Amino acid sequence: MNTILTEKIRVGVSACNYGCKTRYNHRGWSRIEALGREKDDFIWTPVCPEVSAGLGIPRPAIHLSGGSGTDFWDGSAKVKNKHGSDLTEVMIEGSRAALETLRRSGIEAFVFTEGSPSCGVYRTSLKNRRMGKPPGIFGSLLLSERLFLIPALDLESPWKWWDWQRRLTAFVWLKQQPLTSKREVYDVWHILKYLCQEIDRPISDRIGHELAGIRRLTREKADQHRFQIEDILRRPSTLSRIQGSMLKHYSHYRKNLGLWPIDVEPPVLDKGKRNFVSKLRILERKAFDIGIFFGGTPVQYRPNR
Ligand code: SF4
Repeated sequence: MNTILTEKIRVGVSACNYGCKTRYNHRGWSRIEALGREKDDFIWTPVCPEVSAGLGIPRPAIHLSGGSGTDFWDGSAKVKNKHGSDLTEVMIEGSRAALETLRRSGIEAFVFTEGSPSCGVYRTSLKNRRMGKPPGIFGSLLLSERLFLIPALDLESPWKWWDWQRRLTAFVWLKQQPLTSKREVYDVWHILKYLCQEIDRPISDRIGHELAGIRRLTREKADQHRFQIEDILRRPSTLSRIQGSMLKHYSHYRKNLGLWPIDVEPPVLDKGKRNFVSKLRILERKAFDIGIFFGGTPVQYRPNR
């Protein structure tokens, strides 16, 4: 029942979060470092569409004019800098070049800078400064590629990263499943449904009903179910919801692992976050090793040594 990924997941990242000072003001962050040793479990591809566009560092800040990044690709919005220069053409080229790099890298996920008019996905404003409507220019391409999208700031929250990481491994594992027969679809759903229910119960129940009613599985139908499950796995959550899941998991593991002699104290959510998360991870691994399946973290990354 337990499922593993043995290959490192390939992840794209807005370069300014990878320690590169690619922002317009020659600044950046090293948010990947917040993952500690876990960052070595992934293969990273940093890109900066604005630098690929040839805008250079430092540069005047840019903004979307006349709509969102999706409108930009439809031709109804433009990109300008603060001096009013129209940068639409170069941003088309720069964004396409960055996307091409990501495609060559075979990435499954992307860690994006929220708030940027280029890389932002759900927000394109910073400090109350509107720079267009979401998604951003590059953010719009990321969405249409159906990638697993993670806001870079969430790397600094142990809670949120725990949640994203368990969903990402499930998402990548799902992509590797063939789904060519009803049996395969049912087996995959059986493994992922608990996690999906935790994220969105009503939609998961609907998928469960639809699957129960399948008579003949067409390629189209199989893809539709795959996309539905992928959409649930990459849906953003809230901190309180994540914490609720963690506490539930923690009690569940403790109960099922019985007298396991490890010092795992009751969780305190407002203090020692990192400590609690690492203890939960120990429980997850232990349960996995002795063959106990927990649907909330159904897929684990275990490299081939
Ligand atoms: S947010 Fe995107 S475009 Fe802006 S500096 Fe970072 S990587 Fe470059």
